[in-house]
Amino acid sequence: MEKLMLGVIGDPIAHTLSPLIQNAIAEKLGIPAEYGVYHVPLADLPDFVDMAKKTLRGFNITIPHKQNILPYLAEIDDYAAGCGAVNTVRIKDGKLHGYNTDGDGLRMAMAMNDIRMENNRILMLGAGGAARSICRKALELGSSVTVLCRNPEKADDFRTFGASVGQMTTENISCHAETAGIIINATPLGMEGIREDFTDLSFLDRTKAAVVDIVYKPAETTLLKGCRERDLTCMNGLGMLVCQAVYAFAIFSEAEFDLEAMAGHVMDVVSKVIYGKTNHKEN
Ligand code: NAP
Repeated sequence: MEKLMLGVIGDPIAHTLSPLIQNAIAEKLGIPAEYGVYHVPLADLPDFVDMAKKTLRGFNITIPHKQNILPYLAEIDDYAAGCGAVNTVRIKDGKLHGYNTDGDGLRMAMAMNDIRMENNRILMLGAGGAARSICRKALELGSSVTVLCRNPEKADDFRTFGASVGQMTTENISCHAETAGIIINATPLGMEGIREDFTDLSFLDRTKAAVVDIVYKPAETTLLKGCRERDLTCMNGLGMLVCQAVYAFAIFSEAEFDLEAMAGHVMDVVSKVIYGKTNHKEN
């Protein structure tokens, strides 16, 4: 079988979990693969693309190149075009085809926790790149989305998609949390290495929503600890990280396999490495 030549690009890129995840999938499927980590400053992107066209079957993309790659694509799928960002590139006949697997990744991770992104009422905190991909997917699936962020004037495109946008204040969060079916934190609040965190979790006392924190390190953020103490259904961002990667591998390899079963396997592998334990469901 021909070796699948893959990789990931970003700047910085040193701490990426992509090789661990993609190699775990390839190994489980018995597909020979080589996965490279490419530190690509913006000025080197044209040279990387030339090299990739000649040698790679595809690559994952992380910050800051999810938008920078757009001019190099021969084709982009509708959802990725709507997000204005690509995290997965498949190379066919020397041409780059762009995809974005974040929305489907989170949808699958949520479904694995019995939380439905479809036809729900979603309160989204944050209006960055991840929020944009999730918001578009949720709207596509018939949900309504209210986005609360600290600079609503920067979130006009969310209104264009069909989301409501407001200021992220304690009062607004509480008010929207009361009627939300799902609350998604798409800010870095509570993330390891970031000083800022949620300081007022009183909104959790006024909601029955399932809470999704897309931060995955630490395994239990302040927000998720608050949910656990109140018996609210909740999950961290590891599932999104793994499921978007499983979708990406399916695109690269064109192999048919059970995506959810694979995601469960890979979550165990990654949990062991980053949390030191395998039972991710308890995180
Ligand atoms: P981003 O594009 O930089 O967006 C971050 C958003 O959070 C922006 O709306 C930003 O507001 C807001 N924000 C930052 N600090 C804040 C604070 N102190 N209070 C309120 N809002 C704040 O980042 P991203 O790529 O969307 O990522 C967001 C988070 O999700 C990160 O923690 C990232 O690690 C995580 N993530 C996880 C996955 C996964 O697979 N699990 C995937 C992608 C991202 P401004 O625009 O006003 O700065």
